[in-house]
Amino acid sequence: MKKTILIIVFSFGGLLSGELEKLKPRVVFCDVGQGDGSLIIDGSFQMMLDAGPKNLKMVNCLNKQLPFWDRKIEVVIISHDDVDHLGGLEIVSRYYNVQENYSEKINKNDIFRYGKIEYEILSAEKNREIVGVLRYDNKRILFLSDNGIETEEKLNLEKMTGVRLGHHGSKNATSEKMLEKTKPDWMVISVGKNNRYGHPHQETLERLKDIKMLRTDLEGTISYDLTRNSLIDSRGDLFNHWNQLIKIFSSSHDTK
Ligand SMILES: [Zn+2]
Repeated sequence: MKKTILIIVFSFGGLLSGELEKLKPRVVFCDVGQGDGSLIIDGSFQMMLDAGPKNLKMVNCLNKQLPFWDRKIEVVIISHDDVDHLGGLEIVSRYYNVQENYSEKINKNDIFRYGKIEYEILSAEKNREIVGVLRYDNKRILFLSDNGIETEEKLNLEKMTGVRLGHHGSKNATSEKMLEKTKPDWMVISVGKNNRYGHPHQETLERLKDIKMLRTDLEGTISYDLTRNSLIDSRGDLFNHWNQLIKIFSSSHDTK
């Protein structure tokens, strides 16, 4: 009997600590197939930037990323009203309480604030192709939409920690100018496997060859931990494990 109680206590403890991990401040680039669907999370606050195409992938991502008791998404911004960004919203609304969709109401220079999170709208031309930047401590993450080079060049940009690439890596986005101004440490391309558009384009990949780049079609869902400054793919803490392995390897060599 005691043993059973202990097992229950331990399993519940394990479950709870796993769920509490989901409160950590981070950015998630959900694997939604061909489209965009990202989240900014801090505790019980979630901001959904695009909802992916009309499938269950965004819901699945939310189910994995949010603790089981949290069914509310505080802020929604759909950056572009094509189906690969907007299609999943109606499906998400069936499973989650979407508090407010700001997509039609926002203007350039509007700022959303929650705790340390500051999300500024950099462009909202005719409320389409909404571009924004997340600032958190000294981190800066730029969220581009399906905008082309023309919009990118009009943006007032600063040095970025990371960038969500525009238009899924199409050759008409990701200008040299934008890369020069933002000098990102890493970039994420949200793109579907074997998509019919040929995204990401080879020319775009060429422009990015010196930057750490992650793709949702290859890595699955990708997270960026805002407090630890680490990128994590769906298989776990890829980069940290890799760094630790290198450390262990080099220290075992040092002792010889
Ligand atoms: Zn798109």
